[in-house]
Amino acid sequence: MSQIYYKTAEEVEKIRKSCLLVCKTLAHVAGLLKPGVSGTKLDEAAEEFILDHGAKPGFKGYHGFPATLCISVNDVVVHGIPSDDEMQPGDIVSIDCGVYWDEFYGDAAYTFPIGDVPDEVLELMSVTNECLYRAIDNAISGNRIGDIGYAVQSYAEGEHGYGVVRELVGHGLGRNLHESPEVPNFGKRGRGPLLKDGLVIAIEPMINLGKKSVTQGKDGWTIRARDGKPSAHFEHSVVVRHNQADILSDHLVIEEAIKNNPEIKEVSKKR
Ligand code: MG
Ligand code: MG
Repeated sequence: MSQIYYKTAEEVEKIRKSCLLVCKTLAHVAGLLKPGVSGTKLDEAAEEFILDHGAKPGFKGYHGFPATLCISVNDVVVHGIPSDDEMQPGDIVSIDCGVYWDEFYGDAAYTFPIGDVPDEVLELMSVTNECLYRAIDNAISGNRIGDIGYAVQSYAEGEHGYGVVRELVGHGLGRNLHESPEVPNFGKRGRGPLLKDGLVIAIEPMINLGKKSVTQGKDGWTIRARDGKPSAHFEHSVVVRHNQADILSDHLVIEEAIKNNPEIKEVSKKR
């Protein structure tokens, strides 16, 4: 899919509606997160929540993916399939959700710490979250895709020595879950496709505490850090505008749910 679609104001509002439902779903799931809860249980709750709102899960059935959520625990980077395995204190859990509503997709993700998580892992989460906002700062018209990747890579690798996953990238978003252009989390300033007003992209840094290389599981989905160290993932969908991107997803509703759940710590913000 190489065609880049620029969205009208009306289309942007539909994508925003879908992205807000994604984030409300993630907030609902965040309220259920605690040691002992299984991925299957969270997935069922998410699916029911989305259907109750008159939308459809965006991932279920996408290239055969079997679930509503991607639940990626610890060294799983992304695309973990929800299972009956129970969350344990000290785990970090990336939950990625998509919905399809009124002909447009929404997409967002957040990484949650369950109970007490080692400081170095909390710092990985905080830095990954900051990577996302540095990327968004660069999602303005006149910049290029490489400016976004550079912002993530220079901060995560250059300043913190983490591994930036190369094999998986952000993407355009709209009538399709994955549209052009690809949005890598690495790159060179001033390179790649030009960003123009109305381009909607999902930006999703995937940052490893250890090295950047990953493996794909036998299930055809689960992506793990090869060295077995934890990996964090945060995602917003945004529309490129002239001076500042408009963030269509809303992590604040997720963070409100975290505040009300004593089993989950807040991710500390760098800004
Ligand atoms: Mg996602
Ligand atoms: Mg995505």
